[in-house]
Amino acid sequence: MSTVSDYFGSLVFDDRAMKASLPSSVYFSLKKTIDEGTNLDTEVANAVASAMKDWAVAHGATHFTHWFQPLTGVTAEKHDSFISPAPDGGVIMEFSGKELIKGEPDASSFPSGGLRATFEARGYTAWDPTSYAFIKDKTLCIPTAFCSYGGEALDKKTPLLRSMQALNKQAMRILRLFGNTEVKCVRTSVGPEQEYFLVDKDMFEKRKDLMFCGRTLFGAKPPKGQELDDHYFGVIKPRVAAYMADLNEELWKLGVLAKTEHNEVAPAQHELAPIYTTTNVATDHNQLTMEIMRKVASRHGLVCLLHEKPFAGVNGSGKHNNWSIATDTGVNLLTPGETPYENAQFLLFLCAVIKAVDDYQDLLRLSVATAGNDHRLGANEAPPAVVSMFLGDELTAVLEAIEADAPYSGTEKTVMKLGVHVLPKFTRDTTDRNRTSPFAFTGNKFEFRMVGSADSIACANIMLNAAVAESLKIYADRLEKAEDFETALHDMIKKTIKDHKRIIFNGNGYDDAWIQEATEKRGLLNLRTTPDALPRILEKKNVDMLTSLKIFTPAEIYSRYEITLENYCKTVNIEGQTMVDMARKEILPAVEAYARDLADTCTVKQTAAPGVSGRYEKKTIAKLSTLADEIDEATDALESALIKYKTVSDVTEAACMIRDVILQKMAELRVVCDEAETVTAEKYWPFPTYGELLFGVK
Ligand code: ADP
Ligand code: MG
Repeated sequence: MSTVSDYFGSLVFDDRAMKASLPSSVYFSLKKTIDEGTNLDTEVANAVASAMKDWAVAHGATHFTHWFQPLTGVTAEKHDSFISPAPDGGVIMEFSGKELIKGEPDASSFPSGGLRATFEARGYTAWDPTSYAFIKDKTLCIPTAFCSYGGEALDKKTPLLRSMQALNKQAMRILRLFGNTEVKCVRTSVGPEQEYFLVDKDMFEKRKDLMFCGRTLFGAKPPKGQELDDHYFGVIKPRVAAYMADLNEELWKLGVLAKTEHNEVAPAQHELAPIYTTTNVATDHNQLTMEIMRKVASRHGLVCLLHEKPFAGVNGSGKHNNWSIATDTGVNLLTPGETPYENAQFLLFLCAVIKAVDDYQDLLRLSVATAGNDHRLGANEAPPAVVSMFLGDELTAVLEAIEADAPYSGTEKTVMKLGVHVLPKFTRDTTDRNRTSPFAFTGNKFEFRMVGSADSIACANIMLNAAVAESLKIYADRLEKAEDFETALHDMIKKTIKDHKRIIFNGNGYDDAWIQEATEKRGLLNLRTTPDALPRILEKKNVDMLTSLKIFTPAEIYSRYEITLENYCKTVNIEGQTMVDMARKEILPAVEAYARDLADTCTVKQTAAPGVSGRYEKKTIAKLSTLADEIDEATDALESALIKYKTVSDVTEAACMIRDVILQKMAELRVVCDEAETVTAEKYWPFPTYGELLFGVK
């Protein structure tokens, strides 16, 4: 039996594989490209491609693909084999530098939001050497960016890389001001905790809602849900344990640092967290993780549900985006330091994040806006739709003291005056935890807890990196011009605290009183749904920031707005159609069949024993008939609303109609159907119930 360290990364063309297979001059050129973003010349590219191909073929690969992340939210790949005809009738395996660096998929059917007319099929993919190539299903997958011929980004990777670059540039300016000359670059790191549900595959296949929508659209509450809290961190059931073991092995081979696994709050809910890594790689790995999670589940007769809210009444799934900023020399810039001077630098980065989260709360909110996530945010199981920040008591006390020029009475009693030398020394508080905050400081990183489980983490990190880069840019502009650095620094930190402290909230984010305070007293935004949140991306302050940092062009922003809203509409429309279908073809016939059998029973009984009252049958039949009429009515109402929705061509208007009308009609239909489930005998019910789905995997 081989050990994990033997096979970890065995399917990745990683640094070890490169070193082993590339001539050292080629290896160093490639390394320089990876670390510093320099261009790769054709000769080097050819040598890398050839070594990559030999390595891949030796590992059983027959094809290669440019692996990219279009705006559909899932990854895309188009496979080409390595074969090339040889004069003797055989084939040789070939792969050129040109094929490595650039691809031209016929990509006309990917969403482009008007960026590229659909008849202009040419988009191109460009190799991202900062994310290692890997082998999946006998195919060498090359992580790539996806752009239009005009150079506009048609994917999630391109703006993510741009946002990392913007943050690097501004953070470097700050570090230089602090006298740091060694650091070559600054990168953000992410560790995304991924939640998911596992259900039995046979049961899954009996439910159209799960098959078409990934979530249940009907289902009465089972007698037992999550109220006993007996699933959270509970013993992992054998079938699930076997799944997790298999999943880990697959992920490890792909170089994904899967680390932590446990049961989550809801029955059938679990979590997997990797060890954090550079944001770009973490994003690719998270996409890969979701794909492998689904694939491995199927081998175990299971289905992995990544939807944010597969079941009403029990917790949904999110993805906690743990984020920090670090230098290439290994210093985490969000770690409080040992000396007051280090702490001044820490405080500046901390303030940059505080300012960023307050100034761009709308961008953070809309970066996680999807139809699925709307069910989760604000439902007292995940953060509210209001963005705020948790800093913990100690750090908050430090900031308050700085703002008031007052003595800080934390771990050390220090009176704070102007100048960095007297900024307080304090230690990192690791015990503080607040599970209800959308954006929590956890000692050396921030945990952005609003991201949905099915979503790519790219969008959230693009906005986060961009917003923080903008704060740092404003700081650097000011500090570079300052006559007295220390005074300017102190004043700026103080001003940030004063201007942005409204975003800091250490209390219970699930409390209704907080939402009231946040919106009424503090003026924070409460963007409850996707159609509420998304239009904010078009606000001038947001467009100005994102374009001035070169994260997006105005056209890219608009296309993303359209695509995301369209996706919201299409998602809910499919759900509505599925409900109509299930109500008409499955639920109503089941209710009718049961009522009819009851009627037959009643007649038979009364014939056999004249004078029998038939009270039970008659009462139940009456109830079922009323419910059937109500279901029929609600189905008609939903169907007419869906027909009307189809006539609306403006996407903003359509999204508002979905939010205000369609979702309402869907909820009304669900109520009567769920009630019918509680009245109908079990064997008549046409698909597995909540109880079976949630407790069915042993
Ligand atoms: P929790 O208590 O929220 O489960 P953990 O300490 O287990 O927190 O960490 C959760 C995630 O945070 C893991 O993916 C971990 O690798 C990641 N993480 C830890 N340190 C950092 C950091 N400096 N930057 C980014 N992510 C980090
Ligand atoms: Mg966490």
